[in-house]
Amino acid sequence: MSCLFCGIAAGDIPATVVLETGRTLAFRDLNPGAPTHVLVIPRDHYADMAALTDADPAYAGDVLATAVAVARQEGLDGGYRLVSNTGDDAGQSVHHLHVHVLGGRSLGWPPG
Ligand code: 5GP
Ligand code: ZN
Repeated sequence: MSCLFCGIAAGDIPATVVLETGRTLAFRDLNPGAPTHVLVIPRDHYADMAALTDADPAYAGDVLATAVAVARQEGLDGGYRLVSNTGDDAGQSVHHLHVHVLGGRSLGWPPG
């Protein structure tokens, strides 16, 4: 199976990494939708948040903890948004779980 984010986790595909932990990796989105737009992934392949929470909820907690650490590291004191698109209706385009960390401007709600 060829997976873009597995390639980034393996170091085979370049990315601008901002934070690493034993089980997670955070890197900048290639097409940022906000001044700060970072993606947080588990190093292991899970298709989406449902797959990971079913298999290993503590690991899902690790991913969320890294997302919060990224927000702090990026200085998003005014607030931020964590998003994990799941499935077609949400527009998930990369089928390796990722949490978007978005911030640095007023984000508005609801999303379009
Ligand atoms: P999704 O639409 O699945 O929630 O989010 C996928 C995200 O991955 C998009 O925001 C897209 O810009 C980002 N992306 C796609 N290809 C690459 C890539 O090769 N490198 C990086 N850093 N981000 C990518
Ligand atoms: Zn993968």
